[in-house]
Amino acid sequence: MKEAWLIEGAGMARLSDVIVHDDGGWHGYPWYKRLQCPLCRDTYQHTGHQQTILGNDNYEAGWEGRGDLLVVPLEGECGHLWEICLGFHKGETFVFVRVGASNYLDGAA
Ligand SMILES: [Zn+2]
Repeated sequence: MKEAWLIEGAGMARLSDVIVHDDGGWHGYPWYKRLQCPLCRDTYQHTGHQQTILGNDNYEAGWEGRGDLLVVPLEGECGHLWEICLGFHKGETFVFVRVGASNYLDGAA
């Protein structure tokens, strides 16, 4: 039995929608990029506890690939919930972003 996604009924967003290319005043290495909310572009995002969903090399992780899926949840100060997912499939790793269908917390708009 496959495990449920962290966000039930989530949809997809483009990876390019969550990467900020300006430095925002950052003084560290220029190849570090900030993340932003895929829905409202707010950059104040907090990571949650990662979860690995086992695919057992048999498509059991709940995504299109046959390997494990690493999910990193993010919660924005904007109130939106979303996830960065890394899925393993036959020697390659795919990265994608999921957003909740009902991702508004109480009081958020
Ligand atoms: Zn947001």
